[in-house]
Amino acid sequence: MTTIVKKEIFNQSKKGFKKLALKGLFDAIDSNKNGYISPEQFWNELKSHGILENDKRLKEIKNTFSRAYSENQKGIDFDLFSNSINQSVLLTKGLRGELVIPDFNGFCKQIIDIYNQVEGNMGGAVADYIPQLARVNPKQFAVSICTVDGQRFDYGDSDRNFCLQSTCKPINYCIAHEELGEDFVHNHIGREPSGRSFNEMALNNDGLPHNPLINAGAIMCSSLIDRKAPIADRFDKVMKTWSDLSGSDDIAFNNSVYLSERQTADRNFALAYFMSEKKAFPENTDLIETLEFYFQCCSIELKSPSMASAAATLANGGVNPLTGKKVFSASTAKNCLSLMNSCGMYDFSGEYAFKIGFPAKSGVSGAMLIVIPNVMGICVWSPNLDELGNSVRGVEFSKKLGERFNFHNYDSLINNNDKIDPRKNKYENKIDNVIGLIYAASHGDVDEIKKIEAKGIDLNSADYDGRTALHLAASEGQAEVVEYLIRRKVNADVKDRWGGTPSKDAKRGKHKIIVELLENYLAN
Ligand code: GLU
Repeated sequence: MTTIVKKEIFNQSKKGFKKLALKGLFDAIDSNKNGYISPEQFWNELKSHGILENDKRLKEIKNTFSRAYSENQKGIDFDLFSNSINQSVLLTKGLRGELVIPDFNGFCKQIIDIYNQVEGNMGGAVADYIPQLARVNPKQFAVSICTVDGQRFDYGDSDRNFCLQSTCKPINYCIAHEELGEDFVHNHIGREPSGRSFNEMALNNDGLPHNPLINAGAIMCSSLIDRKAPIADRFDKVMKTWSDLSGSDDIAFNNSVYLSERQTADRNFALAYFMSEKKAFPENTDLIETLEFYFQCCSIELKSPSMASAAATLANGGVNPLTGKKVFSASTAKNCLSLMNSCGMYDFSGEYAFKIGFPAKSGVSGAMLIVIPNVMGICVWSPNLDELGNSVRGVEFSKKLGERFNFHNYDSLINNNDKIDPRKNKYENKIDNVIGLIYAASHGDVDEIKKIEAKGIDLNSADYDGRTALHLAASEGQAEVVEYLIRRKVNADVKDRWGGTPSKDAKRGKHKIIVELLENYLAN
């Protein structure tokens, strides 16, 4: 179904789905025009809005449709369709393009484009400190997205398992924070970037780890989680949290990774003893048990859709958008994101925060957990690492994402014609660009016009009153702009809604040079 048709349909109903609007939508999905749609056609339509068939929120509707289909092979009739849609806010909003990313299909096309641009980058090398990571196929590359409304998209190797490694650190911090509160946790761990490498033998001036996202801090967090409980229960708690974050049964444990982590852990043992010497741990902490627990957390495995859902939970104030379950409080999620923003990318954290500007955590498995607060969670997984330990493709993907969309923490959401705001539908983005073009023309800003043109915006675009860039430049005496637009062969014989042409505007403003420029252009 074309977007134009959809738009027409939505225009018929401003609040909720009126019967007429729903009928139009039904007819548009019913490509056979026999008054029935198949479950497959229904789910395909929803998929274009990011709502997937296995969405637990739609379990009942899925069952109803499957039952109806098995009873009557013709498919789902209009009555069943409209009753089901009207019962579900998710379906109503999704089909009306009112979820956080209204043009989800368009957004996914951009993601695929970025993926394709990044895929050829085979720079870097897989982590080789343990054989289990050294053996991973470096060509693998997955991107998964989950918005705060539970719109999902997976691309590439999203069905492959990988281990958490350092991406377990922000979640272990959240678990400890949730249980013990900010003050208690930060009595044992600082919250400053260390400016050193992730496993550096260094503590802050209070003899504490600099932050929870480097190894010393992560070992400390592990010592804090449910610390009076038996170790098996503590590990269960971490696994259960990941299940809650993913909203799936996808969470596994890789015992070989764990065993080799433990075997090659001299530095982590040294860090733990160093902290113990400084009395940084709570009393009665069992160091060996704590270290083993930390290695086990690093060895948890999942697939990219699950990590995206975990990231979306952090983006959504601690509530999993796919299940509605509150996994962490909003303040726990906020504190975690602050730390990911300043310390999540090893020794590249400052640069990442400056240039890219959204919270992220990487791990040596090549995993990256990325959060666009209040919008979406993203997982990128690609095993080749740069010399700092970050996924090469993950970092490049982030850069391109940040160049295209206004996702940097400090991007202006209002005065930003350079970047797309995917929270707006494509018409709103287009309108912004057209207004930007016309504004630039009236202010003589040829550079800005070139930038807008480079985004594919037609220089003949007009505003609601039919005023084009050429009208505005001619009225305001912006000869340089008029010259440029003429060179780009825009239409000069164009009327606004009062019948005014650029030539008339130039004459009225007594802009002689422009009058001549336009006369010559129109004569040729
Ligand atoms: N298991 C690794 C370690 O503690 C984690 C490394 C990482 O992903 O940064 O050495």
